[in-house]
Amino acid sequence: EFANRMTERAVDVIKILMKQDLMLKITDVIDADTAELIAVEMGHTVKRVSESDVETGLFSEPDSVETLQARPPVVTIMGHVDHGKTSLLDALRNSRVVTGEAGGITQHIGAYQIEQAGNKITFIDTPGHAAFSQMRARGAKSTDVVILVVAADDGVMPQTKEAIAHAQAADVPIIVAINKMDKPGADPSRVRTELLQDSIVVEAMGGEVIDVEVSAKEGTNLDKLLEMILLQSEVLELKANPDRTAEGIVVEAQLDRGRGPVATVLVQKGTLRPGDIIVAGSEWGRVRAMLDESGNQVKEAGPSKPVEVLGFQGTPAAGDMVAVVENEARAREIVEYRQRQLREKASVVASGARGSLEEMMNRLQDTGHKEFPLVLKGDVQGSVEAIVQALKELGTDEVSARILMSGVGGITESDVTLALASKAPIIGFNVRANKQAREAARRDGIEIRYYNIIYDLVDDIKAAMSGLLSPER
Ligand code: GDP
Repeated sequence: EFANRMTERAVDVIKILMKQDLMLKITDVIDADTAELIAVEMGHTVKRVSESDVETGLFSEPDSVETLQARPPVVTIMGHVDHGKTSLLDALRNSRVVTGEAGGITQHIGAYQIEQAGNKITFIDTPGHAAFSQMRARGAKSTDVVILVVAADDGVMPQTKEAIAHAQAADVPIIVAINKMDKPGADPSRVRTELLQDSIVVEAMGGEVIDVEVSAKEGTNLDKLLEMILLQSEVLELKANPDRTAEGIVVEAQLDRGRGPVATVLVQKGTLRPGDIIVAGSEWGRVRAMLDESGNQVKEAGPSKPVEVLGFQGTPAAGDMVAVVENEARAREIVEYRQRQLREKASVVASGARGSLEEMMNRLQDTGHKEFPLVLKGDVQGSVEAIVQALKELGTDEVSARILMSGVGGITESDVTLALASKAPIIGFNVRANKQAREAARRDGIEIRYYNIIYDLVDDIKAAMSGLLSPER
Protein backbone atom coordinates (compact mmCIF):
# COMPACT_ATOMS: atom_id res chain seq x y z
CA GLU A 1 0.00 0.00 0.00
CA PHE A 2 2.85 2.34 0.88
CA ALA A 3 4.60 1.65 -2.43
CA ASN A 4 1.31 2.20 -4.20
CA ARG A 5 0.80 5.55 -2.64
CA MET A 6 4.26 6.60 -3.77
CA THR A 7 3.62 5.02 -7.16
CA GLU A 8 6.80 3.00 -6.69
CA ARG A 9 7.31 -0.71 -7.13
CA ALA A 10 6.94 -2.65 -3.89
CA VAL A 11 10.08 -4.59 -4.66
CA ASP A 12 12.09 -1.34 -4.71
CA VAL A 13 10.76 -0.41 -1.31
CA ILE A 14 11.68 -3.81 0.02
CA LYS A 15 15.19 -3.46 -1.37
CA ILE A 16 15.72 -0.21 0.48
CA LEU A 17 14.40 -1.81 3.63
CA MET A 18 16.89 -4.63 3.17
CA LYS A 19 19.72 -2.15 2.93
CA GLN A 20 18.65 -1.00 6.37
CA ASP A 21 18.76 -4.58 7.60
CA LEU A 22 14.99 -4.81 7.69
CA MET A 23 13.97 -8.10 6.12
CA LEU A 24 10.30 -7.62 5.51
CA LYS A 25 7.59 -9.18 3.45
CA ILE A 26 5.22 -7.21 1.32
CA THR A 27 2.44 -7.70 3.83
CA ASP A 28 4.44 -6.54 6.85
CA VAL A 29 3.61 -3.25 8.51
CA ILE A 30 6.27 -0.56 8.92
CA ASP A 31 6.17 2.35 11.31
CA ALA A 32 5.79 5.99 10.33
CA ASP A 33 9.44 6.88 10.95
CA THR A 34 10.72 4.11 8.70
CA ALA A 35 8.19 5.03 6.05
CA GLU A 36 9.34 8.61 6.18
CA LEU A 37 12.99 7.63 5.74
CA ILE A 38 12.21 5.50 2.75
CA ALA A 39 9.93 8.03 1.13
CA VAL A 40 12.66 10.65 1.42
CA GLU A 41 15.27 8.25 0.14
CA MET A 42 13.11 7.61 -2.91
CA GLY A 43 12.88 11.31 -3.56
CA HIS A 44 9.39 11.96 -2.29
CA THR A 45 8.26 14.86 -0.17
CA VAL A 46 6.80 13.77 3.11
CA LYS A 47 3.96 15.56 4.78
CA ARG A 48 3.23 14.24 8.21
CA VAL A 49 -0.42 14.08 9.17
CA SER A 50 -1.49 13.80 12.77
CA GLU A 51 -0.97 10.57 14.61
CA SER A 52 -4.71 10.02 14.98
CA ASP A 53 -5.18 10.31 11.25
CA VAL A 54 -2.51 7.72 10.66
CA GLU A 55 -4.29 5.53 13.16
CA THR A 56 -7.47 5.66 11.16
CA GLY A 57 -5.49 4.68 8.12
CA LEU A 58 -7.30 7.34 6.17
CA PHE A 59 -4.57 9.94 5.90
CA SER A 60 -6.94 12.83 5.89
CA GLU A 61 -5.36 16.10 4.85
CA PRO A 62 -5.07 18.69 7.59
CA ASP A 63 -7.60 21.44 6.98
CA SER A 64 -6.28 24.73 5.70
CA VAL A 65 -6.56 27.70 8.00
CA GLU A 66 -9.20 29.56 6.01
CA THR A 67 -11.62 26.63 6.27
CA LEU A 68 -11.54 26.63 10.07
CA GLN A 69 -14.43 27.93 12.11
CA ALA A 70 -14.90 28.35 15.84
CA ARG A 71 -16.31 25.26 17.53
CA PRO A 72 -17.74 24.68 21.02
CA PRO A 73 -15.40 23.44 23.76
CA VAL A 74 -15.58 19.82 24.90
CA VAL A 75 -15.41 19.48 28.66
CA THR A 76 -14.82 16.48 30.94
CA ILE A 77 -15.59 16.57 34.65
CA MET A 78 -13.17 14.71 36.90
CA GLY A 79 -12.56 14.45 40.63
CA HIS A 80 -12.69 12.25 43.70
CA VAL A 81 -15.65 9.93 44.23
CA ASP A 82 -18.60 11.62 45.95
CA HIS A 83 -17.26 15.11 45.38
CA GLY A 84 -20.21 15.80 43.09
CA LYS A 85 -19.25 15.05 39.49
CA THR A 86 -22.60 13.48 38.64
CA SER A 87 -24.54 16.10 40.56
CA LEU A 88 -22.72 18.86 38.72
CA LEU A 89 -23.26 17.23 35.33
CA ASP A 90 -26.94 16.84 36.14
CA ALA A 91 -27.33 20.35 37.48
CA LEU A 92 -25.70 21.81 34.39
CA ARG A 93 -27.80 19.68 32.11
CA ASN A 94 -31.09 20.31 33.83
CA SER A 95 -30.53 24.00 33.90
CA ARG A 96 -30.14 24.37 30.16
CA VAL A 97 -30.05 21.44 27.86
CA VAL A 98 -30.55 22.51 24.26
CA THR A 99 -33.82 20.66 23.92
CA GLY A 100 -35.70 20.32 20.68
CA GLU A 101 -39.04 21.98 20.08
CA ALA A 102 -40.95 19.10 21.58
CA GLY A 103 -38.60 18.93 24.56
CA GLY A 104 -37.96 15.23 24.58
CA ILE A 105 -36.94 13.30 27.64
CA THR A 106 -33.30 13.63 28.53
CA GLN A 107 -31.39 10.47 27.86
CA HIS A 108 -27.98 9.44 28.91
CA ILE A 109 -26.00 9.08 25.73
CA GLY A 110 -22.52 9.77 27.14
CA ALA A 111 -22.31 13.42 26.22
CA TYR A 112 -24.55 16.43 25.97
CA GLN A 113 -24.51 19.99 24.81
CA ILE A 114 -25.83 23.05 26.62
CA GLU A 115 -26.10 26.67 25.69
CA GLN A 116 -24.80 29.59 27.69
CA ALA A 117 -25.51 33.09 26.40
CA GLY A 118 -25.69 31.84 22.84
CA ASN A 119 -22.54 29.74 23.11
CA LYS A 120 -22.62 25.98 23.10
CA ILE A 121 -20.60 23.81 25.45
CA THR A 122 -20.27 20.04 25.13
CA PHE A 123 -19.91 17.91 28.25
CA ILE A 124 -18.65 14.37 28.22
CA ASP A 125 -21.00 12.66 30.56
CA THR A 126 -18.95 9.62 31.49
CA PRO A 127 -17.03 10.74 34.53
CA GLY A 128 -14.05 8.62 35.31
CA HIS A 129 -10.40 9.04 34.75
CA ALA A 130 -10.04 5.70 33.14
CA ALA A 131 -12.39 6.63 30.30
CA PHE A 132 -10.50 9.84 29.76
CA SER A 133 -7.10 8.22 29.55
CA GLN A 134 -8.39 5.24 27.63
CA MET A 135 -9.40 7.57 24.86
CA ARG A 136 -6.06 9.26 24.99
CA ALA A 137 -4.26 5.94 24.96
CA ARG A 138 -5.94 5.26 21.65
CA GLY A 139 -4.46 8.43 20.29
CA ALA A 140 -7.63 10.44 20.57
CA LYS A 141 -7.88 13.82 22.08
CA SER A 142 -11.41 14.08 23.32
CA THR A 143 -11.33 16.95 25.76
CA ASP A 144 -10.42 20.62 25.58
CA VAL A 145 -10.97 21.53 29.21
CA VAL A 146 -11.10 19.46 32.42
CA ILE A 147 -13.31 20.58 35.28
CA LEU A 148 -11.72 19.32 38.46
CA VAL A 149 -14.40 18.96 41.11
CA VAL A 150 -13.17 19.19 44.70
CA ALA A 151 -15.62 19.08 47.59
CA ALA A 152 -15.04 22.07 49.82
CA ASP A 153 -15.72 20.02 52.94
CA ASP A 154 -13.35 17.22 52.02
CA GLY A 155 -10.45 18.78 50.14
CA VAL A 156 -7.92 17.17 47.83
CA MET A 157 -8.20 13.38 47.93
CA PRO A 158 -6.32 10.55 46.14
CA GLN A 159 -8.56 10.55 43.07
CA THR A 160 -8.30 14.32 42.90
CA LYS A 161 -4.56 13.88 42.52
CA GLU A 162 -5.11 11.15 40.00
CA ALA A 163 -7.40 13.38 37.96
CA ILE A 164 -4.80 16.13 38.02
CA ALA A 165 -2.17 13.70 36.82
CA HIS A 166 -4.38 12.54 33.96
CA ALA A 167 -5.22 16.08 32.86
CA GLN A 168 -1.63 17.20 33.09
CA ALA A 169 -0.34 14.20 31.20
CA ALA A 170 -2.82 15.02 28.44
CA ASP A 171 -1.84 18.67 28.55
CA VAL A 172 -5.45 19.77 29.01
CA PRO A 173 -6.14 22.96 30.98
CA ILE A 174 -7.94 22.57 34.30
CA ILE A 175 -10.67 24.69 35.83
CA VAL A 176 -11.26 23.93 39.51
CA ALA A 177 -14.86 23.72 40.70
CA ILE A 178 -14.88 23.90 44.47
CA ASN A 179 -18.18 22.15 45.14
CA LYS A 180 -20.52 21.73 48.11
CA MET A 181 -20.09 25.34 49.14
CA ASP A 182 -23.51 25.13 50.79
CA LYS A 183 -22.19 22.74 53.41
CA PRO A 184 -21.38 24.07 56.88
CA GLY A 185 -17.88 22.58 56.81
CA ALA A 186 -16.96 24.15 53.47
CA ASP A 187 -13.42 25.49 53.47
CA PRO A 188 -12.43 26.64 49.98
CA SER A 189 -9.13 28.16 51.02
CA ARG A 190 -7.98 24.82 52.34
CA VAL A 191 -8.73 23.34 48.92
CA ARG A 192 -6.67 26.04 47.23
CA THR A 193 -3.74 25.44 49.55
CA GLU A 194 -3.87 21.68 49.15
CA LEU A 195 -3.90 22.01 45.36
CA LEU A 196 -0.51 23.69 45.50
CA GLN A 197 1.04 20.32 46.29
CA ASP A 198 0.07 19.12 42.85
CA SER A 199 1.25 22.31 41.15
CA ILE A 200 -2.26 23.62 40.68
CA VAL A 201 -1.87 27.27 41.55
CA VAL A 202 -5.20 29.07 41.39
CA GLU A 203 -5.51 32.78 40.79
CA ALA A 204 -6.06 33.60 44.46
CA MET A 205 -2.71 31.98 45.19
CA GLY A 206 -0.96 33.98 42.50
CA GLY A 207 -1.27 31.40 39.76
CA GLU A 208 -3.23 31.13 36.54
CA VAL A 209 -5.66 28.31 37.17
CA ILE A 210 -9.26 29.51 37.36
CA ASP A 211 -11.39 28.32 40.27
CA VAL A 212 -15.09 28.75 40.91
CA GLU A 213 -16.95 28.09 44.15
CA VAL A 214 -20.15 26.22 43.34
CA SER A 215 -22.91 24.14 44.82
CA ALA A 216 -24.27 21.52 42.50
CA LYS A 217 -27.06 20.89 44.97
CA GLU A 218 -28.30 24.45 45.18
CA GLY A 219 -27.29 25.40 41.66
CA THR A 220 -25.06 28.20 42.92
CA ASN A 221 -22.56 29.83 40.58
CA LEU A 222 -23.12 27.44 37.70
CA ASP A 223 -23.39 30.44 35.37
CA LYS A 224 -20.01 31.60 36.50
CA LEU A 225 -18.51 28.17 35.92
CA LEU A 226 -19.91 28.14 32.38
CA GLU A 227 -18.57 31.62 31.74
CA MET A 228 -15.14 30.52 32.86
CA ILE A 229 -15.28 27.54 30.52
CA LEU A 230 -16.11 29.87 27.65
CA LEU A 231 -13.34 32.23 28.69
CA GLN A 232 -10.85 29.41 28.80
CA SER A 233 -11.96 28.16 25.39
CA GLU A 234 -11.55 31.58 23.87
CA VAL A 235 -7.93 31.44 24.90
CA LEU A 236 -7.61 28.00 23.33
CA GLU A 237 -9.03 29.27 20.00
CA LEU A 238 -10.82 26.02 19.27
CA LYS A 239 -11.51 25.61 15.59
CA ALA A 240 -12.48 22.98 13.06
CA ASN A 241 -13.60 22.78 9.46
CA PRO A 242 -17.31 21.91 9.35
CA ASP A 243 -17.42 21.58 5.54
CA ARG A 244 -15.73 18.26 4.98
CA THR A 245 -16.36 14.60 5.59
CA ALA A 246 -16.78 13.97 9.29
CA GLU A 247 -14.24 12.61 11.73
CA GLY A 248 -14.80 12.07 15.41
CA ILE A 249 -14.54 9.77 18.35
CA VAL A 250 -16.77 7.18 19.99
CA VAL A 251 -17.64 8.31 23.48
CA GLU A 252 -19.84 5.41 24.45
CA ALA A 253 -21.24 2.40 22.66
CA GLN A 254 -23.44 -0.55 23.41
CA LEU A 255 -25.55 -3.19 21.83
CA ASP A 256 -29.16 -2.19 22.24
CA ARG A 257 -31.72 -4.98 22.15
CA GLY A 258 -34.16 -3.16 19.95
CA ARG A 259 -31.92 -0.86 18.00
CA GLY A 260 -28.79 -2.90 17.43
CA PRO A 261 -25.34 -1.39 17.94
CA VAL A 262 -25.60 2.19 19.18
CA ALA A 263 -22.63 4.52 19.50
CA THR A 264 -22.40 8.07 20.72
CA VAL A 265 -20.07 9.86 18.38
CA LEU A 266 -18.49 13.18 19.19
CA VAL A 267 -17.87 14.85 15.86
CA GLN A 268 -14.51 16.60 15.81
CA LYS A 269 -14.21 17.76 12.21
CA GLY A 270 -16.61 18.04 9.33
CA THR A 271 -20.32 17.30 9.43
CA LEU A 272 -21.91 13.90 9.90
CA ARG A 273 -25.19 13.09 8.17
CA PRO A 274 -27.56 10.16 7.85
CA GLY A 275 -26.50 7.97 4.94
CA ASP A 276 -22.78 8.50 5.56
CA ILE A 277 -20.64 5.37 5.56
CA ILE A 278 -18.52 5.38 8.69
CA VAL A 279 -15.69 3.40 10.14
CA ALA A 280 -15.01 3.30 13.89
CA GLY A 281 -12.10 1.23 15.09
CA SER A 282 -12.66 -2.15 13.56
CA GLU A 283 -16.38 -1.70 12.92
CA TRP A 284 -18.25 0.05 10.15
CA GLY A 285 -21.78 1.01 9.23
CA ARG A 286 -24.08 3.33 7.37
CA VAL A 287 -25.62 6.06 9.50
CA ARG A 288 -29.29 5.14 9.69
CA ALA A 289 -30.30 7.81 12.16
CA MET A 290 -28.74 10.27 14.55
CA LEU A 291 -30.31 11.32 17.84
CA ASP A 292 -29.39 14.00 20.33
CA GLU A 293 -29.54 13.75 24.12
CA SER A 294 -33.24 14.59 24.06
CA GLY A 295 -34.01 11.74 21.72
CA ASN A 296 -34.66 14.08 18.81
CA GLN A 297 -33.62 13.13 15.30
CA VAL A 298 -30.70 15.16 14.05
CA LYS A 299 -30.03 15.74 10.37
CA GLU A 300 -26.55 17.17 10.74
CA ALA A 301 -23.86 17.04 13.40
CA GLY A 302 -20.96 19.46 13.09
CA PRO A 303 -17.76 19.83 15.15
CA SER A 304 -18.11 19.24 18.94
CA LYS A 305 -21.64 17.89 18.54
CA PRO A 306 -22.34 14.56 20.23
CA VAL A 307 -24.93 12.33 18.57
CA GLU A 308 -26.16 8.83 19.09
CA VAL A 309 -25.55 6.99 15.84
CA LEU A 310 -27.60 4.02 14.70
CA GLY A 311 -26.54 1.79 11.84
CA PHE A 312 -23.24 0.19 12.87
CA GLN A 313 -22.79 -3.43 11.88
CA GLY A 314 -21.01 -4.24 15.13
CA THR A 315 -20.42 -2.37 18.36
CA PRO A 316 -17.33 -0.14 18.32
CA ALA A 317 -15.42 0.68 21.51
CA ALA A 318 -15.28 3.92 23.46
CA GLY A 319 -12.27 5.83 22.25
CA ASP A 320 -12.39 4.52 18.71
CA MET A 321 -11.77 7.12 16.05
CA VAL A 322 -14.60 7.60 13.60
CA ALA A 323 -14.21 8.60 9.99
CA VAL A 324 -16.52 8.85 7.02
CA VAL A 325 -15.33 6.96 3.96
CA GLU A 326 -16.40 7.13 0.34
CA ASN A 327 -18.11 3.78 0.02
CA GLU A 328 -18.86 0.42 1.55
CA ALA A 329 -15.96 -1.33 -0.16
CA ARG A 330 -13.49 1.10 1.34
CA ALA A 331 -15.11 0.67 4.75
CA ARG A 332 -14.73 -3.09 4.56
CA GLU A 333 -11.14 -2.78 3.43
CA ILE A 334 -10.22 -0.58 6.38
CA VAL A 335 -12.05 -2.73 8.87
CA GLU A 336 -10.31 -5.85 7.63
CA TYR A 337 -6.95 -4.14 7.75
CA ARG A 338 -7.55 -3.06 11.32
CA GLN A 339 -8.76 -6.43 12.46
CA ARG A 340 -5.55 -7.89 11.05
CA GLN A 341 -3.55 -5.23 12.85
CA LEU A 342 -5.32 -5.99 16.10
CA ARG A 343 -4.33 -9.62 15.78
CA GLU A 344 -0.74 -8.67 15.04
CA LYS A 345 -0.67 -6.24 17.90
CA ALA A 346 -1.93 -8.95 20.21
CA SER A 347 1.00 -11.11 19.28
CA VAL A 348 3.47 -8.24 19.69
CA VAL A 349 2.16 -7.53 23.15
CA ALA A 350 2.55 -11.16 24.01
CA SER A 351 6.19 -11.09 22.96
CA GLY A 352 7.38 -7.82 24.40
CA ALA A 353 6.21 -4.95 26.50
CA ARG A 354 5.58 -1.52 25.06
CA GLY A 355 5.71 0.43 28.28
CA SER A 356 8.93 -1.08 29.54
CA LEU A 357 12.21 0.45 30.55
CA GLU A 358 13.89 -1.15 27.60
CA GLU A 359 11.32 0.04 25.13
CA MET A 360 11.48 3.50 26.65
CA MET A 361 15.23 3.58 26.08
CA ASN A 362 14.86 2.51 22.50
CA ARG A 363 12.42 5.27 22.00
CA LEU A 364 14.77 7.76 23.65
CA GLN A 365 17.50 6.75 21.28
CA ASP A 366 15.28 6.70 18.26
CA THR A 367 13.66 10.02 18.65
CA GLY A 368 16.04 11.96 20.84
CA HIS A 369 13.20 12.43 23.31
CA LYS A 370 14.33 14.14 26.38
CA GLU A 371 11.81 12.91 28.85
CA PHE A 372 11.52 9.61 30.56
CA PRO A 373 7.92 9.18 31.68
CA LEU A 374 6.98 6.92 34.57
CA VAL A 375 4.24 6.33 37.08
CA LEU A 376 5.28 5.86 40.68
CA LYS A 377 3.29 4.29 43.50
CA GLY A 378 4.64 3.80 47.02
CA ASP A 379 3.54 2.70 50.45
CA VAL A 380 4.07 5.92 52.37
CA GLN A 381 4.23 9.57 51.44
CA GLY A 382 7.73 9.96 52.84
CA SER A 383 9.35 7.39 50.60
CA VAL A 384 7.40 8.55 47.55
CA GLU A 385 8.70 12.05 48.12
CA ALA A 386 12.24 10.81 48.61
CA ILE A 387 12.09 8.85 45.35
CA VAL A 388 10.61 11.76 43.43
CA GLN A 389 13.38 13.97 44.74
CA ALA A 390 16.08 11.45 43.86
CA LEU A 391 14.69 10.99 40.36
CA LYS A 392 14.55 14.72 39.81
CA GLU A 393 18.21 14.96 40.71
CA LEU A 394 19.05 12.35 38.08
CA GLY A 395 17.97 14.68 35.30
CA THR A 396 20.62 15.96 32.93
CA ASP A 397 20.49 18.38 30.03
CA GLU A 398 19.68 15.53 27.73
CA VAL A 399 17.22 13.42 29.60
CA SER A 400 15.12 13.76 32.69
CA ALA A 401 12.50 11.68 34.44
CA ARG A 402 8.95 12.85 33.96
CA ILE A 403 6.81 11.54 36.75
CA LEU A 404 3.31 11.39 35.31
CA MET A 405 1.91 10.58 38.68
CA SER A 406 3.22 9.69 42.07
CA GLY A 407 1.02 8.54 44.85
CA VAL A 408 0.51 6.40 47.89
CA GLY A 409 -1.27 3.06 47.55
CA GLY A 410 -1.38 -0.08 45.49
CA ILE A 411 -1.15 -0.05 41.71
CA THR A 412 -4.61 0.13 40.17
CA GLU A 413 -6.06 -0.19 36.71
CA SER A 414 -6.30 3.56 36.48
CA ASP A 415 -2.52 3.79 36.95
CA VAL A 416 -2.08 1.38 34.06
CA THR A 417 -4.37 3.44 31.83
CA LEU A 418 -2.43 6.54 32.68
CA ALA A 419 0.86 4.79 31.98
CA LEU A 420 -0.45 3.41 28.71
CA ALA A 421 -1.42 6.82 27.43
CA SER A 422 2.23 7.87 27.69
CA LYS A 423 3.64 4.38 27.18
CA ALA A 424 5.40 4.66 30.52
CA PRO A 425 6.48 1.92 32.91
CA ILE A 426 5.00 1.76 36.40
CA ILE A 427 7.24 1.60 39.44
CA GLY A 428 5.89 0.12 42.67
CA PHE A 429 7.78 0.80 45.85
CA ASN A 430 6.73 -1.58 48.61
CA VAL A 431 3.33 -1.89 46.95
CA ARG A 432 1.85 -4.41 44.55
CA ALA A 433 -0.57 -4.20 41.69
CA ASN A 434 -4.08 -5.52 42.18
CA LYS A 435 -5.49 -8.20 39.91
CA GLN A 436 -7.24 -5.85 37.49
CA ALA A 437 -4.11 -3.75 37.18
CA ARG A 438 -1.95 -6.80 36.50
CA GLU A 439 -4.32 -8.02 33.84
CA ALA A 440 -4.57 -4.61 32.20
CA ALA A 441 -0.77 -4.24 32.26
CA ARG A 442 -0.32 -7.63 30.66
CA ARG A 443 -2.93 -6.89 28.04
CA ASP A 444 -1.57 -3.44 27.21
CA GLY A 445 2.09 -4.35 27.46
CA ILE A 446 2.89 -2.04 30.34
CA GLU A 447 5.80 -3.07 32.51
CA ILE A 448 5.37 -2.95 36.27
CA ARG A 449 8.58 -3.04 38.29
CA TYR A 450 8.64 -3.60 42.01
CA TYR A 451 11.28 -2.35 44.39
CA ASN A 452 11.82 -2.25 48.11
CA ILE A 453 15.11 -0.42 48.18
CA ILE A 454 15.15 3.16 46.96
CA TYR A 455 18.76 2.88 45.89
CA ASP A 456 18.00 -0.04 43.52
CA LEU A 457 15.07 1.78 42.04
CA VAL A 458 16.97 4.98 41.39
CA ASP A 459 19.91 3.05 40.08
CA ASP A 460 17.81 1.18 37.52
CA ILE A 461 16.14 4.33 36.29
CA LYS A 462 19.49 6.00 36.08
CA ALA A 463 20.85 3.11 34.07
CA ALA A 464 17.85 3.14 31.78
CA MET A 465 18.16 6.85 31.30
CA SER A 466 21.81 6.71 30.45
CA GLY A 467 21.36 3.76 28.17
CA LEU A 468 22.93 1.17 30.45
CA LEU A 469 19.93 -0.89 31.22
CA SER A 470 20.43 -3.58 33.78
CA PRO A 471 19.04 -6.93 32.68
CA GLU A 472 15.41 -7.62 33.45
CA ARG A 473 15.00 -8.98 36.88
P1 GDP B 1 -19.62 11.76 42.26
O1 GDP B 1 -19.28 10.45 42.86
O2 GDP B 1 -18.43 12.67 42.19
O3 GDP B 1 -20.34 11.70 40.96
O4 GDP B 1 -20.57 12.50 43.31
P2 GDP B 1 -22.16 12.64 43.29
O5 GDP B 1 -22.59 13.67 42.33
O6 GDP B 1 -22.78 11.30 43.22
O7 GDP B 1 -22.40 13.27 44.72
C1 GDP B 1 -22.08 12.56 45.92
C2 GDP B 1 -22.96 13.07 47.05
O8 GDP B 1 -22.71 14.43 47.32
C3 GDP B 1 -24.44 12.95 46.73
O9 GDP B 1 -25.11 12.52 47.90
C4 GDP B 1 -24.85 14.37 46.39
O10 GDP B 1 -26.16 14.64 46.70
C5 GDP B 1 -23.90 15.18 47.25
N1 GDP B 1 -23.59 16.49 46.66
C6 GDP B 1 -23.14 16.74 45.41
N2 GDP B 1 -22.98 18.06 45.23
C7 GDP B 1 -23.35 18.66 46.37
C8 GDP B 1 -23.41 20.03 46.79
O11 GDP B 1 -23.10 20.97 46.09
N3 GDP B 1 -23.82 20.25 48.08
C9 GDP B 1 -24.18 19.23 48.91
N4 GDP B 1 -24.56 19.55 50.14
N5 GDP B 1 -24.13 17.95 48.53
C10 GDP B 1 -23.73 17.66 47.29
